[in-house]
Amino acid sequence: MIPYGKQYISLEDLKVVTETLQSDFLTQGPKIKEFEDNFAKYVGAKYAVALANGTAALHLCTLALGVKERDKVITTPITFAASANCVRYCGGEVVFGDINPETYLLDIDSVKALLESAPKGTYKGLIPVDFAGRAINLEEYRKLAHEYGLWIIEDACHAPGGYFIDSMGKQQHCGNGNFADLAIFSFHPVKHIASGEGGMITTNDEQLYKKLLMLRTHGITRDENLFQNSIDFAIGQQPTANLETPNSNYPAWYMEMQILGYNYRLTDFQAALGNSQLQRADQGIQRRREIAAKYAEAFTNKSFIKGQSGVVEGHAYHLYVIEVEDRLGLYNFLRTQNIFSQIHYIPCHLMPYYRSLGWQEGDRQASETYYKHCISLPMYPTLIEEEQDYVITKIFSYFE
Ligand SMILES: *Cc1c(COP(=O)(O)O)cnc(C)c1O
Repeated sequence: MIPYGKQYISLEDLKVVTETLQSDFLTQGPKIKEFEDNFAKYVGAKYAVALANGTAALHLCTLALGVKERDKVITTPITFAASANCVRYCGGEVVFGDINPETYLLDIDSVKALLESAPKGTYKGLIPVDFAGRAINLEEYRKLAHEYGLWIIEDACHAPGGYFIDSMGKQQHCGNGNFADLAIFSFHPVKHIASGEGGMITTNDEQLYKKLLMLRTHGITRDENLFQNSIDFAIGQQPTANLETPNSNYPAWYMEMQILGYNYRLTDFQAALGNSQLQRADQGIQRRREIAAKYAEAFTNKSFIKGQSGVVEGHAYHLYVIEVEDRLGLYNFLRTQNIFSQIHYIPCHLMPYYRSLGWQEGDRQASETYYKHCISLPMYPTLIEEEQDYVITKIFSYFE
């Protein structure tokens, strides 16, 4: 059986997870910071915050940026629902842009059209997605964000290790924090780095970083520079006026819950697994790019392929998408051949939940047309050459 995506657990992964399980810390131990530091370095950001999953990461981003009732935020319909839902968690309103049919990414012109059609200040933020692993040009989005006073959350779940080339010809890695305020990643098994469940936020903004750390753990801080209650209160005694030496330190047990937070922590053994997988991330991407190149070559000039991901510099190839006329036929045929392709995505604005909020068919033409034809082929580092040949042969045999 050949799935569209699959994790790989090495002997080294097993070793570090076992070691962590036998250590003093199953959670809230040293593996978290180690994973965060290595991940921040990997994407080129200053700070990283490990979380229970990518959805929790998105939720904390919208909380940290202060999304509130009726705030309008723009994202793409061709994404996993969580990219949009995080706005709803805070009571905000999701406004879907449309995709560029060539790149499958949020089309900046559709975003401009939305921004221009409303008074400045109507929209609060943007959530562009590095869909399929293709890095969206955030330099352009930052200009727009600057002009309209918007924040940016980059949903980089598909693209750790991906990059785009900026206007100076420099590589800008997904999640490096140079253009987006916050970026999020997921370590679900189908993603590049697997930790079971897991997520990460990266940023270069120290204030947001500190806030995220608090939100991750119930809104609690143990940093005495931030304490709001008095030392006397913390100690549990009368005011110090009548003491010879006033108390000048908070007791070691003392902490404060200052904002309404959550428990969105990752465990230490998950962090150990994620960190171990991170060590192989570059090899994984290299292999994904080889697989993509082989698909691209095989499908060049094939009239039954209407579009494909192709070979794109900096693409992290979480998915390899092609568009075909008879998508249902191909999908069902491949299943009979034990090839389990997948569809990414059913347009988010047409999910019954978003329909109930007023969205309807015809609202986002490019995304809806794309959905009728798209199909994601097997793409993961341990897909061997013979398996990929088999997939390609079966696709040809269906159409020819
Ligand atoms: C996987 C994914 C998420 C959510 O991540 P989880 O870890 O599954 O919660 C969000 N956005 C995109 C684009 C994803 O692919």
